[in-house]
Amino acid sequence: MTAAAAAVPWAGCLPGPGREAAEIVDAACVRSWLGMVAARLEAERDFLTQLDAAIGDADHGVNMHRGFTAVLARVGAIAEATPGQLLKTAGRTFISTVGGAAGPLYGTAFLQAGEALGDVASFGPRRLLDALRAALEGVQRVGAAAVGDKTMVDALSPALAAFELELRMGGSLETATCGAREAAAEGMRATIPLQARKGRASYLGPRSVGHQDPGATSTALMFAALEQAVLADRSQRFAGGARRRGSGT
Ligand code: ADP
Ligand code: MG
Repeated sequence: MTAAAAAVPWAGCLPGPGREAAEIVDAACVRSWLGMVAARLEAERDFLTQLDAAIGDADHGVNMHRGFTAVLARVGAIAEATPGQLLKTAGRTFISTVGGAAGPLYGTAFLQAGEALGDVASFGPRRLLDALRAALEGVQRVGAAAVGDKTMVDALSPALAAFELELRMGGSLETATCGAREAAAEGMRATIPLQARKGRASYLGPRSVGHQDPGATSTALMFAALEQAVLADRSQRFAGGARRRGSGT
């Protein structure tokens, strides 16, 4: 492990030495990401519910926590699975255990991302970009929300754009996930002054202004977990030299 990575494993957008090795995501990394999302959702459950109490029906934290608890149980029971199979299992589990808007929206996002990954055992940032794009398309097909409607799309869409831009500029998986995390958080904060045009919050009309959207917040949290999982994976590789893997695309 480098000194910098040892001292501050998740600080900032560290351009990775050994970058090519870090550009590989496998099933273990996807499992680790799902676990980190679940942990963050548990920690932020009450906050998400408070946000939803202000402009919805006060169930978003509970919904997301219940959904991800079920996802972890299902995924944990599968011994061998590709990243795509893991995400599709997560999507199906979410749809069957979470009602309301978030269940079908996130469920479809995970399902579509899993489909986009196909049956590869590991992948790189280009394919991750395809998966993120498929997730956004799925959310928009189901919910028909555009950027500015004060929904999870306001975090997901800029995160995807930032991820893509970073790759176009020659960035690595780490810098791309860092950029996506920052853009998602910015998109989340940008929902505060917006009036909701989709979902339950839209019933409030102008009274929805001045509140942060709960779904944009849970999406930002998932991108924070993605960066965390990617960096943890890298640290593990530097520290241990290695689960060795096939090459990513
Ligand atoms: P419900 O609104 O049914 O109680 P949740 O509280 O779990 O469901 O989720 C609410 C979140 O779902 C909102 O904060 C918003 O981000 C998201 N959402 C609602 N409707 C849509 C939509 N049409 N497209 C995208 N996201 C949506
Ligand atoms: Mg709700």
